[in-house]
Amino acid sequence: MNAGSGEYLIEARNLVRMFGARRERVTAVDDVSFGIRQGEVVCLVGESGCGKTTTGKMITGLLKPTSGQVFYAGKSVWTPRGDKGEDFKTYRLGVQIIHQDPYASLNPSHTIYKILSTPLLHHKFVANTYEALDRVIELLNIVGLSPVEDFLYKYPHQLSGGQRQRVSVARALTVNPRVIVADEAVSMVDVSIRVGLLNMMADLKRNLGVTYLFITHDLAVAKFFAWEGRIAVMYVGSIVEFASTPQLINDPLHPYSKALLAAVPEADPELTRSKKRVELRSQDIPSLLALPSGCRFHPRCPYFEPGLCDVKRPELLPVGENRYVACHIAAREAGAPT
Ligand code: SF4
Repeated sequence: MNAGSGEYLIEARNLVRMFGARRERVTAVDDVSFGIRQGEVVCLVGESGCGKTTTGKMITGLLKPTSGQVFYAGKSVWTPRGDKGEDFKTYRLGVQIIHQDPYASLNPSHTIYKILSTPLLHHKFVANTYEALDRVIELLNIVGLSPVEDFLYKYPHQLSGGQRQRVSVARALTVNPRVIVADEAVSMVDVSIRVGLLNMMADLKRNLGVTYLFITHDLAVAKFFAWEGRIAVMYVGSIVEFASTPQLINDPLHPYSKALLAAVPEADPELTRSKKRVELRSQDIPSLLALPSGCRFHPRCPYFEPGLCDVKRPELLPVGENRYVACHIAAREAGAPT
């Protein structure tokens, strides 16, 4: 199948990504499917190692899926033979990534002007260096780095972490992307400047119509950034729940989503006291080299049903409008066939 559904600007269909060889071969991403509409925010949330970054890299075209497909604007990014499709360049420019580490993702020997003008000139978004300077100034203003003369000819090491991450966002914007994959983009900056960065990125959505795949381990950040969007919760390589943000935050169905939510700290001590705790049976995340049978969450799940959960792997099933869960018990309670 080489056509996307047409509903989504970017779509992952049955993505699988394996690493290693022979006995050491692991499946980091296992049959992941989702779509993001133009102007929408979808968050991928989960613990470290759950496959969210690998999924983000496949969405960006930095990693080729072992199987499955990525569709951009309705067209398959990879041909059936696994080669780059005809429109690969348009796709690569249209989908940009912001990496987690603002200290490693910028070339330390280039000034901010050089970092931002290089893609502009290389991809011919501007005709000459005068136009490049105008556009760099415009981009620095868009990401809130003003007065721009304080930043233009500085090197990355002369900026704070938050300022560097704003430069990373400006660099992503140089090629007028339609989709930004933000991979833990605010997790390495101080909490005090995190909100400013998130608000700036939300402004880009409002003012430029940017579509986001926002990857984070922090459900509180996902809630803040994607209240009008959707959240996909990943566990050990697969999506276990996918719902609108209010649904997932106010009424999580999957036991793992409940546990993640219960772990989010609250500023109000009253809320902390009244919060329902989820006691996991184990704190250990399973190794990808020795995955549990049946439901991969069953060794940790407080709702584990022997003879079912450890035998049969739950599928991601629809449980209402635009809501999906991969849990035998939650699906049964929601009236979905299991
Ligand atoms: Fe827990 Fe069973 Fe649901 Fe897995 S399928 S999350 S073990 S209740």
